[in-house]
Amino acid sequence: MNIFCKNRVYLKFTKSELLLDPKIVDPTANCMFISHGHTDHLPNSRKRPTIIPPAVCSIATARIFLERKGYSISQHDSWENDEFSITTVPGGHTFDSTVAVINAKDSGQKIVYTGDINIEDRGYLKGYKPQKCNILILEATWGNRDYKFPAFEKQISQAREYVQNELAKGYPVALLGYPLGKSQLLNYCLGDLCDSRVSSNSIWKMEQLHRELGLNLYETNQLPKNLHSISFDKTNPWILFYNHTRARDPVLSSLKKKYNLKIVGFSGWAKDETSYKYRLGADAAFTISDHSDYGSLLEIVKQSQPEKIFTIFGNAADLARDLQKEGFNAVPLREGQSTLESFF
Ligand SMILES: [Zn+2]
Repeated sequence: MNIFCKNRVYLKFTKSELLLDPKIVDPTANCMFISHGHTDHLPNSRKRPTIIPPAVCSIATARIFLERKGYSISQHDSWENDEFSITTVPGGHTFDSTVAVINAKDSGQKIVYTGDINIEDRGYLKGYKPQKCNILILEATWGNRDYKFPAFEKQISQAREYVQNELAKGYPVALLGYPLGKSQLLNYCLGDLCDSRVSSNSIWKMEQLHRELGLNLYETNQLPKNLHSISFDKTNPWILFYNHTRARDPVLSSLKKKYNLKIVGFSGWAKDETSYKYRLGADAAFTISDHSDYGSLLEIVKQSQPEKIFTIFGNAADLARDLQKEGFNAVPLREGQSTLESFF
C-alpha cells in the first residue's frame, strides 16, 4: 500500500483506492472517507460526478455534504473489500465528525487518518480517543509549540461570566464562531444566558440542520439582511451568534455603534489576545478551538504508538520536526507531494 498526498490524501492498494477527504470525487476510486463538513475537507466542486464511490462518514456529515455540495452521497458507517476495511470513531471536532480507522488486510496493519480532531469533551462533543495504530496520519493545525491552550471548561465558564455581566449591564453581546461547529457549541453552552437570541443567516441555517439531526440547541431568530429594517429594544439585551471573520466586520461595527454591542471572539488565535482583539475589534476573547492544541497532539501520538506518522494541514513541518526530536518516525505531508515509499 502507498500513501499519496494528492487530492488531499489517498491510499493506493494493489487493486483498489481509498480517498480521504478528497478535493475531487474520483469516480474510479473504490471508496471515500469524509471526516466532517468543513469546506476544507469537502470536494471543491458542486458539480455532481457521474459515479460517486460509497462514502464512509456519519449521517450528519452526509447531510452537511448535501447542504454544501448540492448532491447526496451513499453514506456507510463502514466499508470493506478484499484489500482493506474502514470503520470510524468519533473525532470530537464538530457534531458527529469522525476519524477513519483502516485495516490493510494483507499485512494486518492499522492506519488512522484523523481529519480534524479534538480530544477534549466539550458540551455535546465527546473527545477523540486515540487509537493504537501502525501508521498515523495526523492533522497539525496547532502543531507548533506556541499553541498551548487553557482547558475548555475553564474558558467557557469565564466566557459565561463575561456575557452574564455584560447582559446584566444592559449591553447586547455578539458571540463570534464559524457557522459549522463553533456556533453550535456556543449556542449549546451559552444560549441559556438570554431569551432573546439572533443568528446570522448561515449560522441560523446550520442551527436548523443540526436540530433536524437531533442536536438540542436553543432557538434563535434570523438577523435580517437590512439592519435598518430592525430595531432592537434598547432596554432588553440580546445575544447575537455571528460568523467569525478575520477582521473587523461592518455589520458588527454598525450594531456596536447603535446598541453598544459587546463583541466576543472564540478561537485558538485568541491565545495572542491583544492582537486578536484588535484585528476583530472585539471587546473580549476566549481561547477555544475545535482542534486539539500542541500538547494534545503530542499526547495523541504517544497514546497511538505508531511506527510511522504523517503530519498534514497547518503546522505539519513544525510538528513532524518536534516529533522526530522525541524519537518518532514522523514526516510532514504536503499537498501535491506523492509519498511513493511503500510501507508494507
Ligand atoms: Zn474542520
